[in-house]
Amino acid sequence: MQTSVIGFPRVGELRELKFATEKFFKGLVSEQELEALAKDIRKKQWLKMQEKEVDFIPSNDFSFYDNFLDAAVLFNIIPERYRELSLSPLEKYFAMARGYKGPAGDVKALAMKKWFNTNYHYMVAEISDKDEISLVGDKPFKEYEEAKALGVETKPVVIGPFTLLKLLRYTEKKTEKDFLQQAVSAYKAYVEKFVSLGAKWLAFDEAYLVRDLDKEDLALFIALYQEILSVKGETKVLLQTYFGDVRDAFESILALPFDGIGLDFLEGKETKNLVAKGFPKDKLLFAGLVNGKNIWRNHYEKTIEQVKDLEAKGISVVLGTSCSLLHVPYTLEGENKLSAEVKRHFSFAVEKLSELLDLKKVLSGKAESSVLEENKALFASVRPNSEDKAVKERCAAITDADYTRLPAFSEREKIQKEEFKLPLFPTTTIGSFPQSADVRQNRNAFKKGEKTKEEYVAFNREKIAEWVKIQEDLDLDVLVHGEFERNDMVEYFGELLSGFLFTEKAWVQSYGTRCVKPPIIWGDVRRLSAMTVEWSTYAQSLTKRPMKGMLTGPVTILNWSFPREDISIAESTKQIALAIRDEVLDLEKNGIKIIQVDEAALREKLPLRKSDWYSEYLDWAIPAFRLVHSGCQANTQIHTHMCYSEFTDIIPAIDNMDADVISFEASRSDLQILDSLRENHFRTEVGPGVYDIHSPRVPSVEEIKEALEKMLKKIEKEKLWVNPDCGLKTRGREETLASLKNLVQAAKELRNEY
Ligand code: GLN
Ligand code: ZN
Repeated sequence: MQTSVIGFPRVGELRELKFATEKFFKGLVSEQELEALAKDIRKKQWLKMQEKEVDFIPSNDFSFYDNFLDAAVLFNIIPERYRELSLSPLEKYFAMARGYKGPAGDVKALAMKKWFNTNYHYMVAEISDKDEISLVGDKPFKEYEEAKALGVETKPVVIGPFTLLKLLRYTEKKTEKDFLQQAVSAYKAYVEKFVSLGAKWLAFDEAYLVRDLDKEDLALFIALYQEILSVKGETKVLLQTYFGDVRDAFESILALPFDGIGLDFLEGKETKNLVAKGFPKDKLLFAGLVNGKNIWRNHYEKTIEQVKDLEAKGISVVLGTSCSLLHVPYTLEGENKLSAEVKRHFSFAVEKLSELLDLKKVLSGKAESSVLEENKALFASVRPNSEDKAVKERCAAITDADYTRLPAFSEREKIQKEEFKLPLFPTTTIGSFPQSADVRQNRNAFKKGEKTKEEYVAFNREKIAEWVKIQEDLDLDVLVHGEFERNDMVEYFGELLSGFLFTEKAWVQSYGTRCVKPPIIWGDVRRLSAMTVEWSTYAQSLTKRPMKGMLTGPVTILNWSFPREDISIAESTKQIALAIRDEVLDLEKNGIKIIQVDEAALREKLPLRKSDWYSEYLDWAIPAFRLVHSGCQANTQIHTHMCYSEFTDIIPAIDNMDADVISFEASRSDLQILDSLRENHFRTEVGPGVYDIHSPRVPSVEEIKEALEKMLKKIEKEKLWVNPDCGLKTRGREETLASLKNLVQAAKELRNEY
């Protein structure tokens, strides 16, 4: 039995690469120092995998920022504006990733997009008509030889030509088909180079194959590989897929002369059935059975059974991870606060290598019997403090009526207009105000025990009071308390709910140098006591204007956590929804009349195949949100907020959340969404963000008015709210004040005109 790893995390066990790269950006670390650190990280990981007897060890999975960007640069897909800069290649690379402003010029960054159904983001490389795809880089070759010099024969990985062409952004007339021949030549040159270096295996990552594909897509895929594979000589080629199954492409894949085919048996619902139809005996099946996305231990018996099933069909199996381990944290080793009892249920990237080795030994009959026994015992045991009978019973008792808020929206809208008597184009913000150093310091000091609870609360109350006054002076209509008590919109609630666990160092790369540390949903979730009521009621006591309660929604909490595997994510989300529902009703009882429930990450787990959108996801995710607010009075106004306006294609579902008002990020998207809202007769009141909060730039009154006027062409004036794109926690105080002043002014001027 052989084992294979698709990719490994690369920010370093203690995020060394992140910190060094950030210092490099500030000029505090030299390029040589950064390169040396990167080399050291690669070496450690290769040797670790070698120690764990991985047979297919990846190289070129390392990246200074993003693998997709690496592939673009490797194949000369570098827009002219970056090529022109007189900067070193590495600096140019970073200029593409994050923009550049300095002596060499002024360029914006490439766009960033979610990588399939993960919380990782890739850089959307751009290509214009005069650009030419060709092999110009040497990163994969250098890294292959670097590993070889250490005595490690690796399997170089690269984003495959099909996924590359499908995900590129074409800025002019030409599209994927026009670049087919160039891509073929470039990838041929890539393969030939590795053939000359004597590489035994090459892997092409083709995640795009798990999406819905049409005839043209398949023709493109076939045309690419028919040519590219013709030059592989003695070198073997693995087609690697992940994040789903390849139902549309399976036959085309089999018909091509790949030597290995990597399929995801965990997220790929159809994978097993596809393989059952027949799999050639002369190819290796790289079976993704060790979860590359979640942090739970592998169930050895189940995995072994699946491998044996495949082998019984005469298939040659290589056991592998379901996707790159990039999506899980490095290692459990540094987690000192979690008990051994808890930790034995988890497996991060390094531990997954041990699991591969265990499984390899068991499958080759070389393991001690205790290996299987221990794993069996682990899954037979009930995890301590994970079961909450009352929560389960409450979930079971939910009826259809619990998902329906009465009276219906239109009735509520009337009642609420009467209740709040807000002016036309009411102004508000999304929740957070600048998290200045003193705000963070206050939280940290309290966490470390350097401040008493009283001192901590007193500080936050002062901040709240200060910002309530600011908002009144600015003349905003609906106020917020500012979220000074929150480190993060999910962690804050996770810490106050039962059923969540937190790690110290379990960071996962979200993009570039940014990492997130998702909580782990360990057991049944329940609200232990009020979570936000004191902050919100205090803030409300300071003003006569409505103060928005501020909560994170159940789908977002789930999507930004590591979910359980013993119950469905739908069930887990329902539990969280009930907990948030309790908080909503508590806020309402305590006089908070407007409550915002953020669903920033609603789209995150939307299935990759459209046909699965509702049945697999929206059919439970949207009801979970409804469960949160269905118990409210008609004169309580429920807001929600979503980051990105990328929901043009699920507008009916968003309307079905049955919120009274939704705010969303729109300022960077040319307001296209507005057309779709209109076409779909969107009834929820809307606050499309009028300025981009990701930039320190202060928008002018004119600019905001212009945006609003565009919006008014598509949205009834009675339904339009005025707010920024998202929360203001990352912004400075002065720019925030200046921007909001202009925002209010723009709304006022417009009121006079309408
Ligand atoms: N209420 C949150 C804030 O303002 C929303 C953050 C988000 O959408 N990511 O910070
Ligand atoms: Zn947002």
